[in-house]
Amino acid sequence: MKINYNGVEQSVFKSALHTHTTNSDGKFSPEEVIGLYQKKGYDVLAFTDHRKTNPVSSYDGKNMTLLSGIELHPAGPRDIRWHILGLGVPENFSGCEPASGQEAVDAVLDSGGVAFAAHPYWCGFTAAEVASLKGISGIEVYNSSCRYIGKEYNMSYWDELLDAGCRYSALAVDDVHRPHDLFRGFTMIIAPDKSPQSLINALRNGDFYASQGPLFTSLNFKGGVISADFTASVAAVCCMRRSSGRCVAVEDNDGPGSGNKEVTHLEFDLGDIHDQYIRIQLRDADGRMAWSNPFYLK
Ligand SMILES: [Zn+2]
Ligand SMILES: [Zn+2]
Repeated sequence: MKINYNGVEQSVFKSALHTHTTNSDGKFSPEEVIGLYQKKGYDVLAFTDHRKTNPVSSYDGKNMTLLSGIELHPAGPRDIRWHILGLGVPENFSGCEPASGQEAVDAVLDSGGVAFAAHPYWCGFTAAEVASLKGISGIEVYNSSCRYIGKEYNMSYWDELLDAGCRYSALAVDDVHRPHDLFRGFTMIIAPDKSPQSLINALRNGDFYASQGPLFTSLNFKGGVISADFTASVAAVCCMRRSSGRCVAVEDNDGPGSGNKEVTHLEFDLGDIHDQYIRIQLRDADGRMAWSNPFYLK
């Protein structure tokens, strides 16, 4: 798959980045997880079992790139445990039992990986507590396995953190433990190739977007103009600081099949607005969302 990203035609790789197996509390073996995502056409699969890595180099990825990862659970503020996703850590990663959230993030970064705060709403952290972790690349904006208590979306966290000056990207993930977590949130990584190092670099640089279904075919921000092309969506908005933003479409009527106008393009000249961020958010007729990473207006 391709995307026109910042004026350049680039490859984009469908990725499942938060996955548990029978090596921790997942229902599927590593081989079963590989088979499930491979059949659905994914390009990249990360194993992120609780407190332990997997020997991914010994697995047959069936044409998918397998990333070594981990989910870490050090003690956090107010007796809440952190859920910190480390991607691109070595298989012999030694920081599996960190004493603090910051120690977890530092261990992931020192080993060459990238760190994200997983499902902060589900955990119960405040945005300020998340912002206290120095060096994370961002958060999960959507986590499928948090649906069961209605805490799968993290948009207001993200905007609060962006408004506070945290330059955070956001992933969409399944956090698969059981069959009904599967195939509801994925991350599209924009990279020159799907080698682990290229994928981790792209994650570190924010070159990706998060989705439950809608796909971007272009994403550009140049000369104060933001523009995007995407699959048919009934809502397409730009989220900016506080009460500011832009809207090209939003549902007029309720429910799927209600005849809402679908759009596939947005373009806004932001003029002399500066010193803040802008991110694009889509929703299709089935209610599935997609989120670009923020662009920063200088
Ligand atoms: Zn978790
Ligand atoms: Zn998890």
